[in-house]
Amino acid sequence: MDISSYTLFSVVAFVLGAAIGSFLNVGIYRLPREISVNKPRRSFCPACHAPIPWQQNLPLVSWLVLRGRCASCGAKIAFRYFGVELLTALLFLAIWRFFPWQIAIAYWVFISILVVATFVDLEHFIIPDQITIGGTLAGIIASFLVPELMNADSRLAALIRSALAATLGYVILWIVLEGGKIAFGKKRVELDAPTPFTWTRHGDDADFVVGEERSLWSEYFAREKDRLLLHCDEAKIDNRSFGVEVLEFHYNRVRVGAEEFALDTVDQISGVARELEIPREAMGRGDLKFLAAIGAFLGWRGVLFSIFAGSVAGSIVGLTALLIGKRVWSAKLPFGPYLAFGAVIWMFFGEKFVHWYFQFVSPV
Ligand SMILES: [Zn+2]
Repeated sequence: MDISSYTLFSVVAFVLGAAIGSFLNVGIYRLPREISVNKPRRSFCPACHAPIPWQQNLPLVSWLVLRGRCASCGAKIAFRYFGVELLTALLFLAIWRFFPWQIAIAYWVFISILVVATFVDLEHFIIPDQITIGGTLAGIIASFLVPELMNADSRLAALIRSALAATLGYVILWIVLEGGKIAFGKKRVELDAPTPFTWTRHGDDADFVVGEERSLWSEYFAREKDRLLLHCDEAKIDNRSFGVEVLEFHYNRVRVGAEEFALDTVDQISGVARELEIPREAMGRGDLKFLAAIGAFLGWRGVLFSIFAGSVAGSIVGLTALLIGKRVWSAKLPFGPYLAFGAVIWMFFGEKFVHWYFQFVSPV
């Protein structure tokens, strides 16, 4: 390929990435809200729901021209929309320049999955099955079509390696998750001072606010027998008042002393808390399936590396957050973005890393 067509293809890769990024934004908004990705077909403003005409929906350009505001209602459009388009465009370009075209196309699919998973997880602490299970299937199919992904010389061998790596990813995290539950089954949080809290039901879920920290009720309960204890100085359940008590919550009911209330009959609980004990999930189930998808595309070494690099990155970010005083006690921390980070590093630098590492292990 001569130089000018190589440059032309690079431009095409970037523009394609920006356009795909724009589509990924739709998925990031709609998938966790269970709105269909192609219905309504047109993008709409999240604030005023006005449909966005195509000339205001050009990737990268429109956000800049409109200065991050909706053209009909003037509401701010999150920087995330621009950021996702730019990130996807740059990653598409980098993949195009790094890899032979067959692998590049497979990695374009993979990177799209990583981007959606990362941004959904950051906002909602979940990774939808369409992304994780769909991604695992996509990885196995891609490995069959492009056996080089698995360093295999036959399609069948690539397919088997991909499926085994997906299984490995799932099983490893499953062990960590179950082990973590035994090691830190629950987490005690002593509040600095008696802190007001509210629990407000809306539909099947509730907002749970302690001091400044707001969270969704459903985030705390992964299993039926999980319980959350709230040591209160005073509490009010709808119109009933209580003094110093421990509220013992299960996902569907709360017990105070000998009394029990079904949460779907309660509208609001409020009071002042001293201490809470939360059932702690090291990871959500989505992370297991997400790592399976990573394995299906990157193979077993990619699985191990993503866990390693993801844990290192997660610890650094977690420690920094603690140091700058942003208290983190939420039951779930998103792990998906860190796994995705590890996967991207592996994709580009994995071979070099292995080479470098084995120089130390077995110097020749
Ligand atoms: Zn609007």
